[in-house]
Amino acid sequence: MMDRRSFMRLTAAGVTAAGVSATVGAGRSAALPAAHGRYESLVPEIFRPVTPPRQHSEAIVIGSGFGGSVSALRLAEAGIQTTVLERGSRWPHDPWRKIFGWDGRMLWHAQRSLAERSASSALTVPAYAETLGAMAAVDDFGGIFEISWHNNSAIMCGAAVGGGSVVYIGITAESKRDPFNQVFKGVVDYDDMATTWYPKALAGLGATVVPPDVYRDHSFSNCRDFWRIGQKAGYAPYFVPGNWRWNVVRDEIAGRAAPMATSSALANSNGSLNSLTYSYLPRAEATGKATIHPRHQVNDIHVEPTGRFALDVDYVSPYGDVLTRRTLTTDRLVLAAGCLGTNRLLVRARDTGTLPNLNEHIGTGWGNNGNGNIDIAVRGSRKDQQSAVGAAGFFDTTEQFARVMVNSTFSLGPLDSAAAAMNTSAIKMGITSVDPTRGTFRYHRDSQQVILDWPAGGNGGVAENCERIGHVMARHADFPVDAVVYEPDLTWAHCMGGATLGTACDAYGRVHGYRNLYVNDGAMLPGSAGASNPSLTITAVAERNIATIIADGG
Ligand SMILES: Cc1cc2nc3c(=O)[nH]c(=O)nc-3n(C[C@H](O)[C@H](O)[C@H](O)COP(=O)(O)OP(=O)(O)OC[C@H]3O[C@@H](n4cnc5c(N)ncnc54)[C@H](O)[C@@H]3O)c2cc1C
Repeated sequence: MMDRRSFMRLTAAGVTAAGVSATVGAGRSAALPAAHGRYESLVPEIFRPVTPPRQHSEAIVIGSGFGGSVSALRLAEAGIQTTVLERGSRWPHDPWRKIFGWDGRMLWHAQRSLAERSASSALTVPAYAETLGAMAAVDDFGGIFEISWHNNSAIMCGAAVGGGSVVYIGITAESKRDPFNQVFKGVVDYDDMATTWYPKALAGLGATVVPPDVYRDHSFSNCRDFWRIGQKAGYAPYFVPGNWRWNVVRDEIAGRAAPMATSSALANSNGSLNSLTYSYLPRAEATGKATIHPRHQVNDIHVEPTGRFALDVDYVSPYGDVLTRRTLTTDRLVLAAGCLGTNRLLVRARDTGTLPNLNEHIGTGWGNNGNGNIDIAVRGSRKDQQSAVGAAGFFDTTEQFARVMVNSTFSLGPLDSAAAAMNTSAIKMGITSVDPTRGTFRYHRDSQQVILDWPAGGNGGVAENCERIGHVMARHADFPVDAVVYEPDLTWAHCMGGATLGTACDAYGRVHGYRNLYVNDGAMLPGSAGASNPSLTITAVAERNIATIIADGG
């Protein structure tokens, strides 16, 4: 067995074949920061003027990801005029046009992110060197995917209308009773989730398991290997719902659309990924009561003597120029800016005194969902590109409760060339373990930034669990295995906690200290979604919370 770097060297040919080296090179030659005019011809749609939000709203939702979309739809259906403020752009879909490239369109202000975090210890974590190098080459532009740097960690999240649903890989997995109860500790009732809220969220998202004809395609061969080896190892694989529009995936297979779902694309733009821009968001707009305002970034939240909330909001260009700066007011405020965005706003508001009644639990209890990746490197390249769809999984209950998903061949392109190289030559597995390690967001007065403190070596338990499961699978492989490779880089895509139900908020996301202030996104989960990829649990708990808040009148 060899280590990751040796494997990378061996697979250098694979990297070049995947076009990754060329892409990095192209990025390096680009002007930094982005020359104005460069992106207008590539994606004219995102440069169109946006309707300004009204001065006062009955409800404002910050963020248009899973929690924000659910909140907007249900508030609007209840007849409440709702304004959604989203910092990112509203990106188009096209069956053939490649909307996203490895340039400013991919990353949310890469240069700003590097500059803001230059004091964080993550910059010295060796595993991140490759990512930093690739990021340094990207134009500073409002792309769809934010990477931010923290102490001993980096966090990735979506930055677009649709939030994480625009950049994710559609795994739509429920938690199970034991791990759910282990992490939620009775604050959320599992039976209620299983009978009401998970089914409602699945239907709302429109996620279903892979159809048999699609699964038979050659691009699912790694997935079928995963299933077979898993069975030999004594596990019970099953199909996990995926949030994909299968007819578009069929179009890809038949050559009627550009290969994306079937070729491991990050940032899928051909319409095969069933992002929230196809489900909750248009339904919210169709009520006539909700409006979505892209390129509106909320910077600060204040409370007025009347109890209304006042928000300092920048309307920005895709290049990040501030076009207008306004203060908007609202009677009800739902924070759904994603775990990182919500913590940035709340920790800052408490520590600068604009929302002084927020309690000491704000910013605490952050977890990475025990998420790690392990790859079984197969000798020789299979030559076939593998699908981005993670269609199957199983549970391992030997030590930490863990869900193991065949993590498709998802790759971060130039950010992780080793992973790209292994697209065709590894069975990649994404593992979410129930792990107790937690971090804390803190406000730094000098830089005015909110930065996560994650303990050095805090991922040790997760790494061990991944390695153990990887070796069990490798022992049962019916083909020669070169290496079992743990992928520690940038596994922080599953951010959760910081405004947790039962501590910073009540059991339904009402923030302690203020009436009509709610958190309804990943920040409310207790650092873990109970050994499941988070989007379905966030959607389901958000449905539960907003239904209760509306029924209770606040
Ligand atoms: C690469 C990647 C792959 C993933 N794959 C999966 C998967 O397959 N399955 C799964 O379950 N999960 C996956 N995840 C995780 C999943 O995407 C997140 O858990 C989920 O999106 C979180 O939902 P949310 O509602 O908390 O917020 P988000 O979906 O993150 O949405 C928050 C929104 O708020 C906006 N925002 C932030 N700050 C502000 C502000 N100040 N003003 C205005 N707007 C703001 C952001 O731009 C964003 O659009 C993946 C994540 C990544 C990064």
